[in-house]
Amino acid sequence: MKKIVKDKFTKNKNLTQTSANEAISYRTPKLITHYRRYESNYGIVDFPLCPACNHCIGRDYQEFCCGCGQALKWGSMKKMKLEL
Ligand SMILES: [Zn+2]
Repeated sequence: MKKIVKDKFTKNKNLTQTSANEAISYRTPKLITHYRRYESNYGIVDFPLCPACNHCIGRDYQEFCCGCGQALKWGSMKKMKLEL
């Protein structure tokens, strides 16, 4: 879950400040643990999911999630579980 820290110096409540811990956690590679299954004309296709935002990762072994920027750590596809 994202932790939002409000900037006490701005009056605009829509503006938020990213905490240092959150910024570091996005740069620390997280292991991909789940995948999502789709049926297509070519058969069944499995897409790994970003551990931070659940975005489908389109390319194998890409270093960052294109949805949220989370650094990714790739393990064995056999150890990933089907999304519930
Ligand atoms: Zn993501």
